[in-house]
Amino acid sequence: MSIDIRKVTVLGTGVLGSQIAFQTAFSGFEVTAYDINDDALKAASERFTKLAAVYTGEVDGAGDGKADKTAAGITLTSDLAQAVRDADLVIEAVPEVLAIKQDTYEKLGKLAPERTIFATNSSTLLPSAMVDFTGRPDRFLALHFANQVWKFNTAEVMGTPATDPKVYRAVVDFAAAIGMVPIELHREKAGYVLNSLLVPLLNAAMDLSANGYAEPEAVDKTWRIATGAPMGPFQILDIIGLTTPYNILVNGDENGKKLAKWLQDNYIDKGKLGIASGEGFYKYSA
Ligand code: NAD
Repeated sequence: MSIDIRKVTVLGTGVLGSQIAFQTAFSGFEVTAYDINDDALKAASERFTKLAAVYTGEVDGAGDGKADKTAAGITLTSDLAQAVRDADLVIEAVPEVLAIKQDTYEKLGKLAPERTIFATNSSTLLPSAMVDFTGRPDRFLALHFANQVWKFNTAEVMGTPATDPKVYRAVVDFAAAIGMVPIELHREKAGYVLNSLLVPLLNAAMDLSANGYAEPEAVDKTWRIATGAPMGPFQILDIIGLTTPYNILVNGDENGKKLAKWLQDNYIDKGKLGIASGEGFYKYSA
């Protein structure tokens, strides 16, 4: 029997959860978004309003009030039992902390119907690290989105050895149905495809500039001209925001810590955090 996904619940309505909920609802699915309390739900509602404005400006077919209707059509709740009681698919986008994920899956496993598929959007935790908390290893996998899902629309699908191939296929089809380009991983890999490529590139770029070999502009120019890529690594870092790589590097090895200090002394402490703050490696006008 094929698996039918129509009702989708998103857990956590922060940066990524709000985007996943919005994109799914925009694509015609029935969406419930869960967060922990009224303040978080108020923030969610504000995020949906902002996303409606972004979609109206940037996404084909979002005009004529469709994006506003999408925002209004998402059910918001802080009651986990109610959020998941009839879900075909739950997409988890709670904070990247194993203890929070564990607590979430242990509760979820008891509250959701047997048929419900659970997908984690975790960037750095392998699904194998969480599968034992779910109580349904065959119906659990990773579905990993990129920030700004409406334009950077990859969805990496990665199961554990226990994931049922039919469940995997249903989630690949779902990703395509919400306008994503599904990227199928055959085995678990920290960083999936995207970050396995991107992180070494960004680190190599920072290494070149922090050690005085070449200016960020020269590094970016090289990458753009010689490979035909539209952006260089420092332009990408400005989009990501410098605090994310800082937080990763500062917890890494000696070289990582050195790069973190370089980022901090030359950029972060000077308020240069990337596009969001108006300046990072480059200056941006509002
Ligand atoms: P975020 O901090 O913006 O949002 C987390 C949300 O979860 C908040 O709304 C918070 O109120 C809520 N929350 C806190 N505790 C909770 C709980 N116990 N149950 C349910 N909700 C809870 O985080 P984010 O950047 O959206 O990241 C969420 C997940 O998505 C992480 O696993 C992260 O690795 C992944 N991810 C993030 C990005 C990114 O660019 N930010 C990209 C891809 C994947």
